[in-house]
Amino acid sequence: MSYVTGANVYLVTRPSVDWQVVQAFLDDENLPPLTESIRAGKDDALAAIEISARLCYMSYGRGRRHIEDFIHNLLSSSDGSVFEHVNYGFVFTGVSRSLTHELVRHRAGFAYSQRSQRYVDETDASFVVPPALAEDGPEAAEARRLLEAALESAAGSYTDLNQALDALLPRSSFSSNTDRRKAVRQAARAVLPNATETKIFVTANVRAWRHFIELRAASFADWEIRQLAIKVLRMLQEEVPILFDDFVIESLPDGTETASPEYSKV
Ligand SMILES: Cc1cc2nc3c(=O)[nH]c(=O)nc-3n(C[C@H](O)[C@H](O)[C@H](O)COP(=O)(O)OP(=O)(O)OC[C@H]3O[C@@H](n4cnc5c(N)ncnc54)[C@H](O)[C@@H]3O)c2cc1C
Repeated sequence: MSYVTGANVYLVTRPSVDWQVVQAFLDDENLPPLTESIRAGKDDALAAIEISARLCYMSYGRGRRHIEDFIHNLLSSSDGSVFEHVNYGFVFTGVSRSLTHELVRHRAGFAYSQRSQRYVDETDASFVVPPALAEDGPEAAEARRLLEAALESAAGSYTDLNQALDALLPRSSFSSNTDRRKAVRQAARAVLPNATETKIFVTANVRAWRHFIELRAASFADWEIRQLAIKVLRMLQEEVPILFDDFVIESLPDGTETASPEYSKV
């Protein structure tokens, strides 16, 4: 049995601007050259937002001259739709099925691809230890012993059920071995616990990530998804500070962290 504490978070996709085409657009529209029209410099994420926002009023080369000022004005006036042009994709591993069940409730602006429990055998699955049980001390150790006993039992039942279903489902009923394996695993997974480790590729735009972080890094969110939301926040703050630097991360007396934004639900 293997146990996991803490998610791995990989930022795998980020936005990209074709600057030659932007220049062609500016030329065709008789607008000022790139350096005057676009204040974001060569930052592709900020540029995508600026290009889209300035297009609304054809204000290239006019108005706010500093990109920080420009972006904070959009955030503070809840002009959030332009943030939908910028997407970041993450791979999360070492997360539980209970976390991903909460994660996939976020619909607007999100795309998901998750490891399948029908195609992939879970006999050697890892299990995610809830943060409350990953603490030091005798009480946590005792609670963890209870958790591990339950998980070992579930893992044993999964193996037994796989064997029972293998004997039960006739080969002649399936057009391929893959379909039969799927039928076995889709039934056997009934006994897999919420703590079963999973992997998921999640892409969302900046408006959606901000909303996700606001809800899931709040003190009332589950600790596991809260830790994940704060990891994502830290990575995005490093990647593109101007779009996420209004979020403040704080430590609570119980040792956990929360984050909240200055600009709510933009
Ligand atoms: C602490 C916490 C506890 C929770 N507990 C429960 C629970 O007990 N049971 C439960 O079922 N869920 C629960 N949820 C999930 C919650 O109800 C939302 O489904 C989840 O947080 C996604 O939020 P959202 O709908 O705002 O996000 P998204 O789906 O990403 O939507 C973003 C925004 O787009 C708009 N929008 C999206 N879809 C529509 C639509 N169809 N119509 C109109 N506007 C739309 C809304 O303004 C919405 O806020 C909980 C969430 C949190 C953070």
